[in-house]
Amino acid sequence: MELTYDCPDCRTVNDVRSVESVPEVRCRSCGAEHAIRREAWDDQGLRACPWCATEDLYVQKDFPQGLGLFIVVVGFAVATVFWYYENPIPTYLVLLASALIDMVLYYRVPNVTICYRCLSQFRGPGSNPPGRFVHFDLAVGERYRQERIRIEQLRESQTPTNSPPL
Ligand SMILES: [Zn+2]
Ligand SMILES: [Zn+2]
Repeated sequence: MELTYDCPDCRTVNDVRSVESVPEVRCRSCGAEHAIRREAWDDQGLRACPWCATEDLYVQKDFPQGLGLFIVVVGFAVATVFWYYENPIPTYLVLLASALIDMVLYYRVPNVTICYRCLSQFRGPGSNPPGRFVHFDLAVGERYRQERIRIEQLRESQTPTNSPPL
């Protein structure tokens, strides 16, 4: 299983292969170390985030969010040209083709599992045990987003430049 995470200290994106077999991970930029939680796995695979131990994880298709929409828009644009020149058969074929490409992509592209709290990403065998994680839930996502904002504010208020003079 592969882990992708943002280093909390320097914001560098790190990729760790076979994260289930390492006791800790190390940021390739600033060297910050972080322990990996063994209890994040059970027999079936991932059950919690090995980085922050949160059990709220969600799955989504592992391709750029806009790609599916892009294919539909391009298909529609091409179809409009055929329609303009009064070629109904190519028009329908283009629309059908773009819908098919979208569908094939959807089923072929693997899932990525993402932690609501720390936004770490997990890919590969065991990262999405059947029936365990569902798609992004706006309410849960918002709760964790607010938490991240609070942590960020707390961190800023603790930096030496903002602290009151002694
Ligand atoms: Zn770092
Ligand atoms: Zn996490």
